[in-house]
Amino acid sequence: MTDGQSLFAVFALLYLAECLRLVPSASWMAAGTEGSPWTVIRPWSRFQIAGGSPLLLSALPPTSAHAQGQEWLFVPGRDALDLRVADGMRLAVPWQTLTPHAEDSTLHLGAGVRVRLASPAHAQMWACRLAEWRDLPAEQRRSAFLHHARASLDTASAGRAAIHAARLTRPLRLQATLVFVWCFGVISIVYRHYGDSLAVLAAAGVLLLMQILQAWLFLRVTRDLKALIPHRFWRALGIALLPQLAMRAADAPGLAGPEELPHPLAWRSLLKHDAWLRTARQFWREARYVPGWSQSTPLPPAAEALRIFFEAEGIAEEEYDPPCPSPQPVCPRCGAGYQDGIATCSSCGGVELRQAAAAELARV
Ligand SMILES: [Zn+2]
Repeated sequence: MTDGQSLFAVFALLYLAECLRLVPSASWMAAGTEGSPWTVIRPWSRFQIAGGSPLLLSALPPTSAHAQGQEWLFVPGRDALDLRVADGMRLAVPWQTLTPHAEDSTLHLGAGVRVRLASPAHAQMWACRLAEWRDLPAEQRRSAFLHHARASLDTASAGRAAIHAARLTRPLRLQATLVFVWCFGVISIVYRHYGDSLAVLAAAGVLLLMQILQAWLFLRVTRDLKALIPHRFWRALGIALLPQLAMRAADAPGLAGPEELPHPLAWRSLLKHDAWLRTARQFWREARYVPGWSQSTPLPPAAEALRIFFEAEGIAEEEYDPPCPSPQPVCPRCGAGYQDGIATCSSCGGVELRQAAAAELARV
């Protein structure tokens, strides 16, 4: 490998490292632009680092804006707070052991339980909110959760916020694309043709000028977001000097999200309907058919919040909870099929199986 190729490889690695973020394991990211449907990106929740998981932002090309969302991490139960740690991983924290306090972006819940949140401000806000919930009677805790759920499912505000962030960061994303093409395309071609020469130095000089322009754009775009972007001037200096920071300059203002992060289902206007409905079904199954569920189980708070939301959005029950299509018993949570005579799903903590009635099958 020549010196030039090694430098190229180092830049590529630094760029990819800059696309990585440590986020809460249960967080969701939407990536897209003003005029096209957005896609969802999830963190690798199998990797748990300091209570969070790594997430790779939309990397190629660096033109997508991002919006951050979060599932309901905390759902109040009768005797314990139900904590969503990661996909398929929940923890019950008894109310009497709950002593929430924030430390940077980490929220400590007591008894060694901790969870990473999106920012120090979010950790602080949830420490206060959970302390309030703990001291309320059970019924009021449920109402307080439903109130929070309703706010996080505001589709109009979530869609507006994402499009606003995309518009705000447009100049940064355009300039980032130019820096990307210049750094990984033009300089490589010039180096291949001319080797170590003045031409390459001149191309590197142009790159530096492009980075300085990006730093100026960054300061201009973020002048109203000073409180939300820590170390803003140092970051601008980094953008002026380091290509990988210049290429990802739009991430910080795009991700400086609202205090109440939207639930992923609030992105209804951003996502394609099929993708949104698949996600809605998944959330419903997990909220409704909780481990140990049977026909007599009352509606859990998260499922109640979703039902209210679906009704308000005009989504019929058959759409988000399609009837069982099989004459054999099927688990309503994970969809696994069973033989006749088996009553509960062993993989889902004893969820009662259901079977299509003869009349339903005749309709199908
Ligand atoms: Zn199951």
